[in-house]
Amino acid sequence: MLTTRFAPSPTGPLHLGHAYSAVQAHRVARENDGRFLLRIEDLDQTRSRAEFVDGIVEDLRWLGLDWDGDPVVQSTRTDAYRAALDRLRDMGLVYACFCSRGDIAAALSAPHARPDHYPGTCRALPDNPERRARDPHSWRLNAGKALARVPPPAWTDNDRTLHASADDFDDEILARKDAPAAYHLACVVDDAASGVNLVVRGMDLRASTPVQRLLQILLGLPEPAYFHHRLVLTDDGRRLAKRDRAPTLAALRDTGVDGPALAEDLRTGLVPSGFRLAVA
Ligand code: GLU
Repeated sequence: MLTTRFAPSPTGPLHLGHAYSAVQAHRVARENDGRFLLRIEDLDQTRSRAEFVDGIVEDLRWLGLDWDGDPVVQSTRTDAYRAALDRLRDMGLVYACFCSRGDIAAALSAPHARPDHYPGTCRALPDNPERRARDPHSWRLNAGKALARVPPPAWTDNDRTLHASADDFDDEILARKDAPAAYHLACVVDDAASGVNLVVRGMDLRASTPVQRLLQILLGLPEPAYFHHRLVLTDDGRRLAKRDRAPTLAALRDTGVDGPALAEDLRTGLVPSGFRLAVA
């Protein structure tokens, strides 16, 4: 059965961009007699707040969206993420990273460093359990080693087959210093556990797909199809971001906007005046 999900992080109130994403995933599921799931991605405990979880539920109900089953809450699923990380560790594909943000920034300022890529400082360190017991560390995927093990990841996005290239990969953090899993690992473990076979999400997350496909292949998880939808931008081309005080759904509700009517517009690709949908 076709299964999609909406997977917000409860780190702020939902805005119009989230509504568009939720409506699209819901639409595809309902048009195909499929399932639409809700997943709360609350692994970042420093930024996630219970009041934002309540707000997500309230906003989706206001839009008239129903979801199947109870929401999956990532903070309750840490054992599953640990098991996946253990598997990758047993395969020799992860390493402990002791770098601080400052260390990484300093290494990246060196000539020939690839901007936005982990400089590899800890990649070749021998495993040191005493140091690990003492010092905070994250776990990183050894992307080069992983890619040497498996066929190059491919996937379909909106029915087009895409192939990853080496540049699409970095030694991503799979478990953070302060949390048992980070986004990519938790996402693939949960998508598989929930039977999500169509990932509907915004184009801003397209760059996450190669590493997520790689993790699925390494962990023997099923391959979902992808549909990265257009993003809601302001008329002058700015992305909606929580920090830019984009109009929240709660604010629209308070000014008397009709939730189901808004959802119906978003379903057909109509956005309120002052906004537009764009390929980004
Ligand atoms: N939690 C992510 C976000 O709010 C979405 C992740 C996903 O859809 O894969 O941006």
